[in-house]
Amino acid sequence: MNVALVTGGSRGIGRAVSVKLAEMGYYVLVNYHSSKEEAEITLQQVKEKGSDGEILKFDVASQEEIEQTLGSWLEAHPGIYIRVVVNNAGIRKDALMMWMKNEEWHDVLNTNLHSFLYVTRFLIKDMLINKWGRIINVVSLSGLKGLPGQANYSAAKAGVIGATKALAQEIAKKNVTVNAVAPGFIKTDMTKDMDEAQLKAMIPMGRFGKPEEVAAIVGFLASEEASYVTGAVINVNGGLYT
Ligand code: NAP
Repeated sequence: MNVALVTGGSRGIGRAVSVKLAEMGYYVLVNYHSSKEEAEITLQQVKEKGSDGEILKFDVASQEEIEQTLGSWLEAHPGIYIRVVVNNAGIRKDALMMWMKNEEWHDVLNTNLHSFLYVTRFLIKDMLINKWGRIINVVSLSGLKGLPGQANYSAAKAGVIGATKALAQEIAKKNVTVNAVAPGFIKTDMTKDMDEAQLKAMIPMGRFGKPEEVAAIVGFLASEEASYVTGAVINVNGGLYT
């Protein structure tokens, strides 16, 4: 059984990634936090691809919940390890920094950055022992370029980009790759309050991206073909930023 974990697999990009990995034959652990019904829909779509999986509830900002849930899962499946982890769960809480509350800063850092440490560190040992693993982090244009109103989110995503590059070098010799995918504007719940008509005028391709267009790159990075790609950040943004 080849197992992949997708954090925030209940909706948006995480759902498309779960379906892509199912297509590639992975047994998919679909993590969710609050949207159980949506996670069930993702799992259904995974099964429609002829694969299987299960939903796993935990808050990626909680080290305790992560270790309890994933620890119990691994204990119940001796001899199996999680070969692919997609750190995708994320939130935005935008505000101009002058007005930003500590809580808005900390919530975004906890969910988007600290989650990377808690989830990845817990799973990495098995990947190293087995000398094969794929760690794929969903970051953002915001973490490369910085976007006004997103000092918290830009800081978190830039943090994950730095950690991706550092960890990639730490474990490259063990055949465990660590890469990031940086989407621009993608049509999901996260962007539904944005002014699409105005924003798409700035995008060379003249449109928002689809979750499946991000999932395609994640799928490539998870594949055997990407065996010599590590420490990379791949933009998926319709030409908005290079
Ligand atoms: P979305 O549609 O809002 O979905 C967010 C997902 O993250 C949901 O499945 C949600 O699960 C999960 N999540 C949020 N907080 C969580 C927590 N504490 N613990 C576990 N899961 C949690 O967002 P999306 O657009 O698909 O974004 C996915 C990733 O892409 C994020 O990291 C985001 O920053 C990044 N990204 C998105 C865009 C874009 O334009 N959409 C652009 C650049 C980067 P529940 O609903 O179950 O809580």
